[in-house]
Amino acid sequence: MAEKLLKFVSLEQEMPLKRAAKQRLADFREVYAEFDTASATAQASRCSQCGVPFCHIHCPLGNNIPDWLRLTAEGRLEEAFLMASSTNNMPEICGRICPQDRLCEGNCVIEKDFDAVTIGSVEKYIVDTAWSEGWVRPIRPLVELDQSVGIIGAGPAGLSAAEELRKAGYQVHIYDRHDRAGGLLVYGIPGFKLEKDVVGRRTGRLEQSGIIFHLDFEIGREAGLADLREKHDAILIATGVYRGRGLKVPGVGLGNIREALDYLIVSNKKGFGDKVPEYDNGNLDAKGKNVVVIGGGDTAMDCVRTAVRQGAKSVKCLYRRDRANMPGSAREVQNAEEEGVEFVWLSGPEAFVGKTAVEAVRAYKMRLGAPDATGRQAPEPVPGSSYMMPCDLAILALGFEPEDLPALFGAPELRVSRWGTVTVDHASMMSNLDGVFAAGDIVRGASLVVWAIRDGRDAASSIKTYLKTQKAKVA
Ligand code: FAD
Ligand code: SF4
Ligand code: SF4
Repeated sequence: MAEKLLKFVSLEQEMPLKRAAKQRLADFREVYAEFDTASATAQASRCSQCGVPFCHIHCPLGNNIPDWLRLTAEGRLEEAFLMASSTNNMPEICGRICPQDRLCEGNCVIEKDFDAVTIGSVEKYIVDTAWSEGWVRPIRPLVELDQSVGIIGAGPAGLSAAEELRKAGYQVHIYDRHDRAGGLLVYGIPGFKLEKDVVGRRTGRLEQSGIIFHLDFEIGREAGLADLREKHDAILIATGVYRGRGLKVPGVGLGNIREALDYLIVSNKKGFGDKVPEYDNGNLDAKGKNVVVIGGGDTAMDCVRTAVRQGAKSVKCLYRRDRANMPGSAREVQNAEEEGVEFVWLSGPEAFVGKTAVEAVRAYKMRLGAPDATGRQAPEPVPGSSYMMPCDLAILALGFEPEDLPALFGAPELRVSRWGTVTVDHASMMSNLDGVFAAGDIVRGASLVVWAIRDGRDAASSIKTYLKTQKAKVA
């Protein structure tokens, strides 16, 4: 084994080629190229095959990382693919967009003295190769069962649950209010992080596997929760969180002050070549505009990087803490800076100024004060520090909250937390309504794709147990 592995001492970490910023700005294609076979094999061979693999422990899916790295280093790619797929329904997507620096790679044991194994890029390489080799096939269940499951939401939580349930032979119906399946994978995350055909081939495979998609079908408009419960033997709510957190400052009601997701959804639809009036009429197109994005998380990073690609005149990211304390990934900040985004640290909006539409943001400087209950230093305005910055489009990226699901679903009996997330029994993921389960962001609050997949898998496992019990009761 040592021959093909443990190379971290002699072989340096190497990332796949990164496209130059100038080239990236010309399109919405991904930033990183694919490893070639030699680089993937070499990088996988840096793994030290730890006895206690912290990478595996810190992967929310408990991926068998050392095993598929070893198989890759040995050139046994089809086996590596099977192993990677046994714990993850979308490994090539996680390989692209997981914040690996906080998860698997950030906990790689060799990271202390050498740079971490590039786990995410190898995972992407393995499964992209599997797609191109034709190893990823539609699911053909061994039995067809007569019980059916209705899933509300075609994001990663809903899709992962659907796949696991279909493998077991259940009849699976997914309802989504959008015209395409994928949730935030298609309409939130921009193409430069995740190209849309990567998502499309996953959802296409599920369709070929016999899962029935009901698109443009909003629960609360086309049907209520009760209608779905009548129709199916179990329900999974996987609707995500979409209501943008507001900002209470003077002038916030002016025109051209928009929520991050409205902006990103429109941009993603345009990327599909759709007719999108809000973009086509110039309202949500950043071209030629001074854009100010407010917030410091990954959504804010996606907005600023979308705006520079649309040809904005200037793009500023206004964040109330400093670089070291921002929630967004350091890698994304670096990418954004390379692409021409200006970060205005320790600054917050005091007011939006304009006649009918925003013309400027009046901002003030902030400083970090005493730590709050969470231990983070709370930002506070510096008196007399106000200044103006020109702005024709302001984008609010301040986080997301759930919609009022009990009201929307016509189901006041559905129990939710005081934040509006669906309350579930954490062992079974069942809500207070018999046979109604929930998974993903609608349970956790805004989180990560990898956690949504994990929840979808866990919920599917509980739903299988529930359906078997129901069947036994009838027999
Ligand atoms: P979603 O992906 O939100 O899917 C929910 C689906 O439910 C949607 O398709 C929606 O249309 C549908 N739906 C909602 N209500 C109804 C209804 N009433 N009737 C029918 N359908 C309904 N995570 C990462 O790991 N890496 C990243 O780089 C990353 N970038 C992100 C960038 C942005 C801009 C955003 C907003 C999030 C990002 N995330 C990222 C977080 C990640 O996308 C989410 O955690 C994940 O998608 C949650 O999955 P989900 O299945 O719970 O919900
Ligand atoms: Fe790392 Fe995410 Fe892959 Fe897990 S799923 S190994 S955290 S990239
Ligand atoms: Fe390999 Fe790093 Fe995981 Fe250890 S922690 S098994 S070196 S990837």
